[in-house]
Amino acid sequence: MVPSAPVQPPTGPFSSDQKEYLQGFMAGVLASGQYAYVGATASGQLTGSPAASATGNLAAPPALSEVEGGFGTPFADLSKPERWKHEQNGLDVWEKLVAHAAADKFPDEPDTFRFKFHGLFHVAPAQDSFMMRLRIPAGEITSHQLRGLAGLADEIGNGATDITTRANLQLRELPPRSIVRALTRVQELGLTSRGSGADNIRNVTATPTSGFDRDELIDVRPYAHGLHHYILNHRDLYGLPRKFNIAFDSGGAVSSAVDTNDIGFFAVRVTEKSLSDCRAGSPNPAFPGIEPGIYFRCELGGITGHKDFARDTGLLLRPAELVPVAAAMVRVFREHGDRTDRKKARLKYLLEKWGGFPRFLEETQKKLAFPLLFAPRTCAEPRRPVLKHGHLGVYKQTQPGLNYVGLGVPVGRMNAQQMRRLSDLADHYGQGELRLTVWQSVIIPHVPDAFTATLVRAVHRLGFFTEAHAAAGCVIACTGSKGCKYAAADTKGHARAVMAHLRKNDPALDQPVNIHLTGCNHSCAQHYCGDIGGIATKLADGREGYHVVLGGGMDHEQGIAREIFRGIAADELPALTEKVLVTYRTRCTPGESFVQW
Ligand code: SF4
Repeated sequence: MVPSAPVQPPTGPFSSDQKEYLQGFMAGVLASGQYAYVGATASGQLTGSPAASATGNLAAPPALSEVEGGFGTPFADLSKPERWKHEQNGLDVWEKLVAHAAADKFPDEPDTFRFKFHGLFHVAPAQDSFMMRLRIPAGEITSHQLRGLAGLADEIGNGATDITTRANLQLRELPPRSIVRALTRVQELGLTSRGSGADNIRNVTATPTSGFDRDELIDVRPYAHGLHHYILNHRDLYGLPRKFNIAFDSGGAVSSAVDTNDIGFFAVRVTEKSLSDCRAGSPNPAFPGIEPGIYFRCELGGITGHKDFARDTGLLLRPAELVPVAAAMVRVFREHGDRTDRKKARLKYLLEKWGGFPRFLEETQKKLAFPLLFAPRTCAEPRRPVLKHGHLGVYKQTQPGLNYVGLGVPVGRMNAQQMRRLSDLADHYGQGELRLTVWQSVIIPHVPDAFTATLVRAVHRLGFFTEAHAAAGCVIACTGSKGCKYAAADTKGHARAVMAHLRKNDPALDQPVNIHLTGCNHSCAQHYCGDIGGIATKLADGREGYHVVLGGGMDHEQGIAREIFRGIAADELPALTEKVLVTYRTRCTPGESFVQW
């Protein structure tokens, strides 16, 4: 039985954002502690992570009778990574990290998996080195941090970083001897890489214009940061059946691909009118407890590599409920997700197994100290359409006299010199703050009107662009064969070639398109969601090529792209892309988007 404990609002001279943030934390404490969370062990220890492992010594795995919840799968049926987790928690390998750094040695297969709990990926045979993935909640980074990472990339990496499709950064080509230096330096910068790989909650994303977007309903950074810190401080939120993505949408102009996540929270406005219209048209017109204001819809089960978007659950959440609800849902997944078949281990498959949302939401409710509210989608105003390339260019902010400048970083790669210069520009013309986007671009906010033109010129001199070129403005690519062992092609190199070709042979579109190239079916670049997408393949003659899919999209253009061309050689891809776009331009009706066409 879950005792109900009211969530007391914080008192004190807080801003409204801070109040929301603190309320979220307090509700989260109630949801995870003795009041409501009934699944954790007293120590918060992950099942199968013996206490002795904290000293680096492997203890015998606990007997099956000690295995709780979803861990109750017979040991013989567990997938290989599950057995490794069962033997030692990936969070407890600090001594091993130190030992491998001292010996300048790569780990064996189980520890290669466990080191990913610290964001360290041994990426052989693509490169015999580590890649380090950070966590940058809401993509919000300071000039000081970016400058520090530039130094680290120069000192122990390949002198560059990659912006990922989770608005995050990756450092590459770290030798084993440098991994402890990398971990400690990143922490000294106020960042972390904990949990950014393996079966953990990945970087928490949010609308990258939060806090200054004139169209946003609410600044979602407090919730993204609140959840980020909640995860970092709860061991039981690690070692899930599979990786897990969570994102927040502010309802503003710029998308954060939230419907592609396992959990997507979307801000909505409930008005007197939307509520009364909805009550009038509903067979159950009460909706007690719902007053006009800003709430969040919750969508679940997105995994576009498996051709599925997150779907609306019917929940209507108050802002302060977001962190505890997310934590409760992750715990339900942790306890009940499949640990035998990695291909069926994501949240989507648990929802399918349970026949939809009702049981999942019932289990979630059991872990919460407050009742979940349900209401039809129509009780809130519909979300305004996103501005498709709104992460590029110069836009006015909510704050009078200030602007944000979105700059395109080709395929997300920045060298250390560019990173330092961007940091300087953010200091000189903004307020020392930058945002990374899931479109592998960067936003510099808080630029006074008088400085935007100067900043744009400086950005262009760095090799970046600010114009939202309809065809070539958003070409994104996963790491590809230069740095990922799964890739069948050099996606970043081919994406650059496509961009260059479309700039030179501009199909002169009046509607923007997104082009996504991904190296394997893990689909890190979400090829099924691109207007044009490519998944790499090896051709019969050994050349690199792509299967090309058309007609994907997200947000208000949601759609899963369909395969139209198979086995296109990589060097033919730019010309094919141009032909497809010219055909679209000549045949579409005015204003018809690619996904509609
Ligand atoms: Fe690697 Fe595949 Fe992800 Fe590309 S999509 S980065 S090839 S795992």
